[in-house]
Amino acid sequence: MKLIFGGVRGTTPVADAAFLQYGGSTTSFMIEGDEGDALLVDLGTGIRTLIPALQALREKDLLILMTHYHQDHLIGFAGLPFIYDPDWHIHVRGPNPEGLTLDQVFNGMMARPFWPLQIDTLQARIDFSACELAANSVPLVRGGLAVRWCPVHHEGGCLAYRIEERASARSVIIATDIEWALSSKRERDDFLRFCSTPCPADALVFDGHFTPQNYDRFKGWGHSTWRDGESICKQTGIGRLYMTHHAQGNDDAFLAHVEQEMHAAFPGALMARQGMVVDMEAVNHD
Ligand SMILES: [Zn+2]
Ligand SMILES: [Zn+2]
Repeated sequence: MKLIFGGVRGTTPVADAAFLQYGGSTTSFMIEGDEGDALLVDLGTGIRTLIPALQALREKDLLILMTHYHQDHLIGFAGLPFIYDPDWHIHVRGPNPEGLTLDQVFNGMMARPFWPLQIDTLQARIDFSACELAANSVPLVRGGLAVRWCPVHHEGGCLAYRIEERASARSVIIATDIEWALSSKRERDDFLRFCSTPCPADALVFDGHFTPQNYDRFKGWGHSTWRDGESICKQTGIGRLYMTHHAQGNDDAFLAHVEQEMHAAFPGALMARQGMVVDMEAVNHD
């Protein structure tokens, strides 16, 4: 199973030269199973970098898991060429947004005057359905991949996803937007159990929007630091941590400095970079 980082930036895309080493596209990930099954998590501008890999899939049938509907996670949708192609069938799953259906969220985002084409004029077959929280313990199966989800603390609600490949017994958790410091005991307990059940995931992709030095100034803004990711990994036995959702002001020099500090404290921790491909078979368990 492979984990591909299409976009690792939070809030807004950045294209300045000083940001290109870690990458400026917003949040989007692809999971590709050994048998060719694939799925996407989030539709930030990073989805553009995943298009060649998606075009190489054996079927024009795509599962997209939405963590939530903040703009940085949705803004790449209109640029996805498959939505204009009648041969594609796209399944969008995500948490129930506040007082709306998924359908209404996507229709609203593509409504006039925000985009020239509306959802009902798109040529692909697109269906939307909510990840029911009651079904949390029953995985959504996609070929050889199984998906479970866990609600996490973030303004308006957000889901973390755990994707497991049955044949290789590899698993990864993606938690892009989560404020660990303000999570309730129940939210923490649920997430820690999610990370460690049925066994510790091989890797955790986690919200590193803030740093331990600047978090206090931004308490309540919905995000975490690498210290939180490190603590979760140590509590649950996860050996590999990828920090993502880099703040739009954090340039390459800043992120490299934070990465050094983080790596010294927890050698299994890395800053996610746009374009990084992780073969989960090769992830070190030490
Ligand atoms: Zn976000
Ligand atoms: Zn958010």
